[in-house]
Order: sequence, then structure tokens, then C-alpha cells
Amino acid sequence: MRERYDAACHLLQRHFGFPRFRSLQGAVVRSVLAGRDTLGILPTGGGKSVCFQIPAVALGGYTLVISPLISLMQDQVASALARGIPAVSLAGPMTSSRIAAALDTVAAGGVRLLYTSPERLLRLVAELERRRLLPALLAVDEAHCIAEWGHDFRPSYRGLRRMRYRLGGPPVVALTGSATAGVRDEIITTLALGGRRRELDLHLGSFDRRNLWFGVRGVRSERERLEALLQLLAADDTMSIVYAPTRKATEGIASALRHAGHRAAAYHAGLDRTIRSHRLEAFLADEVDVMVATSAFGMGIDKPTVRLVVHWSMPPTPESYYQEAGRAGRDGAPARCVLLYRPGDATVHRRQLDVTFPSRSTLEAVWRGRVDPARLPKAVVDSADRLRRELHPERGEVDWRPVDRRRAAAQARIDAVERYARTRGCRRAAVLDYFGERAASCSGCDRCGRRDVPVLRDRAATRRLASLRRAVASVAAPWPGGLLDGETLARLAAHPPRTVEELAAVPGVGAPLAARFGRLLVDGLRDEPPPRDEAPVIHALLQWRDATAGALGIASIELMTERAIRAIAAAAPRDATTLARVGGLGPRAKAKFAAELVELIGRAVAQEKSEPASAVAGP
Ligand code: ADP
Ligand code: MG
Repeated sequence: MRERYDAACHLLQRHFGFPRFRSLQGAVVRSVLAGRDTLGILPTGGGKSVCFQIPAVALGGYTLVISPLISLMQDQVASALARGIPAVSLAGPMTSSRIAAALDTVAAGGVRLLYTSPERLLRLVAELERRRLLPALLAVDEAHCIAEWGHDFRPSYRGLRRMRYRLGGPPVVALTGSATAGVRDEIITTLALGGRRRELDLHLGSFDRRNLWFGVRGVRSERERLEALLQLLAADDTMSIVYAPTRKATEGIASALRHAGHRAAAYHAGLDRTIRSHRLEAFLADEVDVMVATSAFGMGIDKPTVRLVVHWSMPPTPESYYQEAGRAGRDGAPARCVLLYRPGDATVHRRQLDVTFPSRSTLEAVWRGRVDPARLPKAVVDSADRLRRELHPERGEVDWRPVDRRRAAAQARIDAVERYARTRGCRRAAVLDYFGERAASCSGCDRCGRRDVPVLRDRAATRRLASLRRAVASVAAPWPGGLLDGETLARLAAHPPRTVEELAAVPGVGAPLAARFGRLLVDGLRDEPPPRDEAPVIHALLQWRDATAGALGIASIELMTERAIRAIAAAAPRDATTLARVGGLGPRAKAKFAAELVELIGRAVAQEKSEPASAVAGP
């Protein structure tokens, strides 16, 4: 066992460049390697992916990963591949031949991580059975999606227990950032963790994020909300997220903020895909300072330098509040989380309960056709349909208990957020208490006294981060930031490595990534070009131009102007694409001479570097 764990540490170093597992990760990995069922509850940013990615490599065969979002899967697959871990995702629209090809690769032993959604697995499982492709491990990421309450609930998750059985009953590792005892129990039952055949190990991390400051601002009107928000933004926070309850609200608030001079953008699920990814990219590249978003802006979005998260109004559950607020300060530096609270904020959520769980009399009236559905709100009719499928009124006496339980639980969550907003005690203690944890001490909230939160003001590092993100986005598109996680990017920006070797040693990078993308990353970290003598390149280009023009029988200037030569020398492009971007060459000449020119420039630059006067200076 000891050896297997050591081997896993080795793999962690090799594929991720991390010198060691975080303590909770190590515990989870030990359990998984020992073949036990494992439930790991780690806060957002705790490093859950490694908990199944490394065992997947260590165990061999393939690990089936259940993930709720296509974008999340694609992101993880892209980064696993870049790190030298063969991974594939079966999700979204795919032709059957592509699926078959992917499964062939699995069968040939060429895949360690096979990502899919629970919905897709329902269809996929027969094929896996037929081919006898049984996974070595079943990993369920974001496992709280199993729980029956809240927006995240997905009915197909309930089928996972049967899927597990049909896949030969592999050990399961379930991971979530949601910590309440109720959710925990539901995950355990639904997945049959620690059933007759296996032991269950539960690993519960602390949810206390020491670098976050928590506060609530009471307001009496919508105008006061905006004023409070503007005040918060006027403080020295740089990157902020504002969570608003509706799509329309995000647009309105973003426009008001732009009016006040902020670089703000709205983000919600109703936007066109390209607009959405455009805005996300702008935010990741520090071109937007305030993202005003619905809860659609969430899972998988890893921007480590967010310094302020404001909730425009009270969210419906402590889980969603803590998860959204927790997107602040992922880099570990101080950040603030502020809730704007207007008495009565809870009303809209309580009303929503009547839509999600209509009264028995309404339900029975709809089911028995005693009321015209057209006269009811569509959402209520939808709920009636959903509950009809669940409760089967056509079979006779309905057992209302599960629905009553769910409604009561949802009600209790609304009450809990309201208590948080109104408490006279410590905010941190209030949140942690909800998650069943006693706060050791408060590291900052509006009740325990103001603590001045220092602000990061390293402009050079911020610039480097932006340029690094651009470089990363150019390869990992369309998932900016997918290649490297935010924390690692921030680390690189703070202490930029100068060589590919140094880069490989940076925690979070590792050798495979450095080998493939090293130059790009090292160059991306150079926000200012190092002082460089352009004369040798200019000289070489002039010579080439005159000779070539002579051979072609045209005037030198027709081939290339001197201005173009200076621009090319300044950019010193390393490939034809970059050269094309510099301009100054016509398309025909480009097609004909690009390769030759790139080589010529490369030689001239190398020559220039060998001269000590122009040694490369770090940024
Ligand atoms: P979660 O899914 O729990 O939110 P992730 O798996 O996305 O977390 O990881 C969060 C961050 O922690 C990432 O930046 C990741 O690279 C980093 N990380 C994970 N494991 C380690 C480790 N052993 N040492 C240092 N950083 C780590
Ligand atoms: Mg995760």
C-alpha cells in the first residue's frame, strides 16, 4: 500500500508538478487506492480533480468520470491531455461512429479518464456492458447534483446506483464541495457507498476560507442597493463579480455600472454562446473588471484574482451563497464577500416554493383534469407534470412524504440564509455552523470588527497574468484558462520562470506541459519585450530583400518597404502566422517567402543573442 501511495505521489509530481498531495487529497487517494468507497468533501478550490485523476493513472484500465457540465468535462479533458494523461469525453451531440471510435480506444487500453454525463451514461452503459469495458473506478464529480433539492438536481443521477451495478460494481469516489449532513447522506444512499461489499471512507475538509471577509449591507430600496454596490466597487477592489437574481437584472446593473465608469459586463444563460464566451474571455483577460452574472456564471470558472463578490440580493440557499461568494480570493489573497440585503428579499424565494411544490389541491386538480392548465402559470403546470411522473397518482393513494420533506428542506435553507443576513453574531460562525463546522476564530467579518483587507497592487504581475492568459487562450480555445488552472497562472505571473526547465519545476505545471507549451508560456510571461538589438535582423532583412528583388528583376522597395523591415525586426516573428500578422509583405510574397524569412530572422536573432551586450533581461 505504502508503495502504491508513493507511486501516486510520483505521478502527481510527473503530471502536475505538485511536490505533494494536500493533506485531504492524500487521504482520499489512499482510500481510493485501497479499493474502498470514498466520499471526499473538499471546499471549492480544494483540489478535487487530482483525487480521481491520479488514481485513474495509478490504477490503470480506465476510470469513468461522471460530471455535470459539458464545458467542465471539456476543460478537464483538455488539461489532462496536456498533462500527459489520456482522457476523452463522451458528451453533447456525437455521432455513433465517434463514440465507437472512442470506445475502441478505451478497449485498447489507451484511455485513463472517460468523462460522461449521467444522462449519457444511461444510454452508454449497455454498450459498455456489451463490450465488457468495466471501469477500474467510478468517479462522481460535483456529487451534490445527486441531492434532491436545489437547482442542481438532475434526476439521472439517481440512476447511477444501477449503472454502477451494471458496470461490475467498481469502487466509487464521490467528490463535492457541499457539506451539509443531509446532502452527504443522500450521496451515500444514492450511490450505495459502503454497501455490503466495501468499506466507506469519509473525508471531510474544513470549509473555513481564512482569506475571505464576510459582510452584509442592509438596504431599504433598489436605489440603495445600487448606491451600496457603487460604494463597494469604488473601494480599491479590482476584479469583482456581482451575482444578481435574474437575467434582466444583470443587464440593468451592468449598464448602470458602465454608466458610472466601470468596465462591467452581464453574463447569463440567455446570452448567445459566442457573446458569452467572449465576455468570459474578456473577464479572464482582465479587460472587464466587474462581471454581473446570474448563478449560471459558476462551476468551472476559475479566476483566482477576484477580490470582491457582491450578492445583489439574498440567494435561496446557504450552499449557493457560500459557493458563489467562495469564487473570491481563490489565489489565497484577501478578498471580500458582501451580501446586499433588503428585508423581504426572502419573499421571492418563498413564492418560488409554491411553484416548485404546488399545493396538494392544485396538483390534484391538474392531475384529474379539473382545472384548465392554460389558466395556470406554465411553471406550475411543469411542476405538476414532474411530480406526476414521480408520485404516480394514477396508481392510487399518493405518498406525499418525499415531497413534503423536500419542501421543508428548501424552506429551511431559505430561513438559514435569512438568519445569516440578520445575525448579530459572527457571519463566519453562522456559515460554518450551517455546514456543521465550528469556526475556530474569525479572520474577518463585519460583526467581529473591521479588519482592513489589504489589496494586491502588483501591476506588473497583473499585466503578466493578462498576457499569459492570452497566450494560454490561443492554444486552449475555446476554453480559456483550461490549459492551466488559475492558481498556477497566478503563481507564474508572480514569479515568472525564465526558461522551460524552470517552468517545468513550477508547482502546477510539470514536465509534459512544459515540454509541449513551454516556449509559449515563457514568452507569454514577458509583458514587455526585453531590450533587444534589432540591428542584426534589419541588416539581414535588407540584404535578403536586395538580393531577392534583384533576382526577381523588381525594385527592392516593391518587395518590401524599410518601414516593414523595421516592424518585422521589432516583432522578430518565430513562425509564419506571426509574420503574417506583422504585415508589410503582400500575400503572394508571404506565401512564397514566409518560411525562408522566418528562418533568416531566427538565425539573425540567435547571432544577436550570442553577443553579451544584448543578453535577455527578465521582465
Ligand atoms: P476543486 O475541484 O476542488 O474546486 P480543483 O481540482 O479545480 O479544485 O483544484 C483547485 C486548485 O488547486 C487548482 O489550481 C489546482 O491546480 C490546485 N491543486 C490541486 N492539487 C494541488 C496540490 N497537491 N498542490 C498544490 N496545488 C494543488
Ligand atoms: Mg472541481
